[in-house]
Amino acid sequence: MENSHIETKCIHEGYRPTNGEARQIPICQSTTFKYDTSNEMGLLFDLEKEGYFYTRLQNPTNDLVAAKIAGLEGGVAAMLTSSGQAANFFAVFNICEAGDHFIASSSIYGGTYNLFSVTMKKMGIECTMIDQNMPEEEIDKLFKPNTKAVFGETITNPTVSVLDIEKFARIAHRHGVPLIVDNTFATPINCQPFKWGADIVTHSTTKYMDGHAVAVGGCIVDSGNFDWLAHAEKYPGLTTPDESYHGITYAERFGKAAYITKATAQLMRDLGCIQSPQNAFYLNLGLESLAVRMKQHCSSAFAVAEYLKDNDKVAWVRYPDLEEDGSHDLFKKYLPNGSCGVLCFGLKGGREVSVSFMDKLKLASIETHVADSQTCLLHPASHTHRQMTEEQLLASGVEPDLIRFSVGLENPEDIIADLQQAFDSI
Ligand SMILES: *Cc1c(COP(=O)(O)O)cnc(C)c1O
Repeated sequence: MENSHIETKCIHEGYRPTNGEARQIPICQSTTFKYDTSNEMGLLFDLEKEGYFYTRLQNPTNDLVAAKIAGLEGGVAAMLTSSGQAANFFAVFNICEAGDHFIASSSIYGGTYNLFSVTMKKMGIECTMIDQNMPEEEIDKLFKPNTKAVFGETITNPTVSVLDIEKFARIAHRHGVPLIVDNTFATPINCQPFKWGADIVTHSTTKYMDGHAVAVGGCIVDSGNFDWLAHAEKYPGLTTPDESYHGITYAERFGKAAYITKATAQLMRDLGCIQSPQNAFYLNLGLESLAVRMKQHCSSAFAVAEYLKDNDKVAWVRYPDLEEDGSHDLFKKYLPNGSCGVLCFGLKGGREVSVSFMDKLKLASIETHVADSQTCLLHPASHTHRQMTEEQLLASGVEPDLIRFSVGLENPEDIIADLQQAFDSI
């Protein structure tokens, strides 16, 4: 598969049935797996042998789908999680413990912002939120001896700003820590963060990867490029013996697969959060058409952005693909084939007008969802970000009038006609 085009990988990566095997990835709907001898199962518990014993840790269906995503991202190993939240939590928690610190862009998804700044703080892990457009020297000053990771989103949700991945990778590596990038909105079809120096990629597979709003899920992919042993003092969890597995040292035993093996062996074992095999099967169906769908999402969103930009009731539009957008230079570098189907805009008259306009739409529906086949929208200040203070909202770039608009796969002329009739009625 290595040299195939991405469209081909979407269909075939991860699973190649042999003679007479099921054509489609089989759903292994079983909590457990049977062994002939007690010793064989014992070896699995010691990580001495590879194999399945309990679906809370690993399941064959999930692993085939995870392998497909690893192939699409150009990574060495991947795991599916029950949600995008679980993926981002595990991605950081796998290398941070109480007393540690990490740095994240303040423009990230509201749920992740809350996870990092409220819930993980209660676990003793401190996160410094930064403006992702801050100069490099300013970001350098925020590192501390206990800083263990840097985190950002390729395209931020909901403000669709593009992350300067190369700059962030450079900063992270200068301080001997990995860069974790949430690639949910871009998907590996439009950007592969590993090519720009990111070390770990996460996804809410709930969005474009599933693409049909049927299954909540997440994924973590490791590039295999970060050298844990070279920074052994920072990552004792990977570089010193794990007493809960008879003294295995992950980075020595598993090499490039160390990070994902540790997350599976420890975090899945102790915290669960695995994706159900049935949902992994739905996810795989979505992945098969991901490349085809992303092209349409991008071209339709561009048409909608152009239409909104020329509308005199619209105060502002943000979409990286537009030439005048603040992220357009980064877009040209990182997302030359298109960003995603999500854009945001505000209406003249502010928050009240934006909200009443939303209620007039007929085809587009108000939903706490984004990035799937049906056009939908949401008002972050009233919905996903309502727990934030006015100050936090502004720091995240979420203006009170901001409408997040997710362009689906309907004919773009129908989406624009719906917007037009809503404009006509306000
Ligand atoms: C939705 C989303 C998440 C959270 O994912 P869930 O699957 O809803 O848990 C994380 N990051 C981004 C960028 C998202 O859009």
